Amino acid sequence: MDLSITSDHASDRISLYRTAHVFSAYAELRDVAQLPSLADWRERRGGRMVLVGNGSNLLLARRRIDSLVVRNALPRCLERRADGLVWASGSTGIMEVLRFCHRESLDSFYYLASVPATIGGAVAMNAGRGRDRGGSIFDFVRRITYYDLDAREVREIRAEEARPEYRRTVFSGATGKVVLEAGFEFPPTRLEDNPIETRKAYAASQQDYSGPNCGSVFAVNDERIMHKLRKRGLAIGGARFSKKTFNWIVNDSSRPLGLVALVAVAELWHRIARRPVRRELVTVR
Ligand SMILES: Cc1cc2nc3c(=O)[nH]c(=O)nc-3n(C[C@H](O)[C@H](O)[C@H](O)COP(=O)(O)OP(=O)(O)OC[C@H]3O[C@@H](n4cnc5c(N)ncnc54)[C@H](O)[C@@H]3O)c2cc1C
Repeated sequence: MDLSITSDHASDRISLYRTAHVFSAYAELRDVAQLPSLADWRERRGGRMVLVGNGSNLLLARRRIDSLVVRNALPRCLERRADGLVWASGSTGIMEVLRFCHRESLDSFYYLASVPATIGGAVAMNAGRGRDRGGSIFDFVRRITYYDLDAREVREIRAEEARPEYRRTVFSGATGKVVLEAGFEFPPTRLEDNPIETRKAYAASQQDYSGPNCGSVFAVNDERIMHKLRKRGLAIGGARFSKKTFNWIVNDSSRPLGLVALVAVAELWHRIARRPVRRELVTVR
């Protein structure tokens, strides 16, 4: 079944920064039978393809995006199987999984209740808590099924084979690996209160939702530099470092230029100070 590609697709709904773009090639992946056709299209574009979950970690760096951009619109699925694992498809929302765990009194990554992600995006980015507190989705992932666009076949791997590091795995970026499903082990537990509501209340008090954002900007950064950026609330072209939340940019412009410049200034400052810096945001051009 062929994937239908739209040329010159205009949208401001791909990244949660809500910047407006024209996409040279855009498609929605609705059926696994379209995966071989997706592999053809990716090959034709020299491997430049990004799969979009919910766009909650994407920095679209130019007004015109040349990479092939593919929204994961595969069916959502969440079920316990005979192997004892709870399997969720890559397109399933984090909240759907958390509500299931809460209903069944299971331990889970409730700290991700504030994260507007799909399971595929959360697995690809090894979503979790900050370095200081630790804990990530990979504490519960046991197996992953993915489609390899280079080999053109479905593979199933153990969680460790995804090589999860802080906010990255073998799936992050333009890797040509489409996470189809993740199998989780959620141990039974006693839940005294509602951890989903507790996390949402915490996020509302600590995180800056005054405008479109994609959560934390850098996975590796220098705290002193980032605190200075936060204190100053440095702003360029409608994008600003949040004064409320550390390492967080709020964007009020439909143009990507301010965002891109702000991230570049922060990186330049790190380089001048000879401090390590690595983006958490996935940059797409
Ligand atoms: C308000 C807010 C709070 C946030 N808080 C946190 C937090 O507490 N902890 C945290 O870790 N992150 C946080 N984030 C960042 C972001 O939500 C996570 O990185 C999330 O995992 C991205 O999921 P997504 O579905 O939106 O993926 P996208 O942003 O669409 O994509 C991110 C990356 O994952 C890849 N990807 C997506 N789906 C698949 C798939 N099926 N197969 C293979 N690759 C795929 C993409 O190609 C891309 O490389 C926050 C973001 C926001 C907006």
